[in-house]
Amino acid sequence: MDGAPLPEGPPRAFARVHALVLLGPPGAGKGTQSRQISRKFGIPEISTGVILRQAVREKSPLGLRAQVVMDAGHLVPDELVCSIVEDRISKPDCDRGFILDGFPRNTAQARFLDALLRRRKLGSALAVSVNVASDSLRKRLSGRQTCPQCGTIYNVYLHPSQKEGICDRDGAALTQRRDDSEESIRSRLSEFESLTRPVIEYYRQADLLREVDGNGSPEAVTTQLFSVLKDL
Ligand SMILES: [Zn+2]
Repeated sequence: MDGAPLPEGPPRAFARVHALVLLGPPGAGKGTQSRQISRKFGIPEISTGVILRQAVREKSPLGLRAQVVMDAGHLVPDELVCSIVEDRISKPDCDRGFILDGFPRNTAQARFLDALLRRRKLGSALAVSVNVASDSLRKRLSGRQTCPQCGTIYNVYLHPSQKEGICDRDGAALTQRRDDSEESIRSRLSEFESLTRPVIEYYRQADLLREVDGNGSPEAVTTQLFSVLKDL
């Protein structure tokens, strides 16, 4: 561990709010932020993407089903993703609450989560939207470069390496994720607008939405998230 403070236990609100849902466009830093929240409150971080990739690697029945769908170029169907979530949250480490990253991705999944929490007599969901201006998202995503040697992440616009395209630490040539090509970025952002934007509205209408400004540094965003969660 890197000297992070010990978890303080879930905030009082988790007696009422059982599932924290982190929403935001690709490039908003949801993975980083959900890790921070998970550490601070001592609740597990559930990423459907991570679970799926692991299932595929292990060739479990679930993984094999998902593989077929993805090989055909389709999104994994709601029913499959929902059963992953249902299965995962019945583990004892979720008893005191949990944080979801990458789920619900559309309003059908959001409704499923509500029904599931009710059926299990758990508290409600609370969504936090990390809002980032689309110009700044494009820069973050298209400027991202990774060192294949040591894993350091750079950004051409925001924090470039000293020598263009070369890792400061070990001199390796930096690479770009295939996910981060212009075309793929456009399609991920438009998927967010058409599928996930309505999820934000779904929680807003239920008065289960908080929002933070995601344009600042990761540390600044974490500070805001902690304060939003404290105020519950
Ligand atoms: Zn390196």
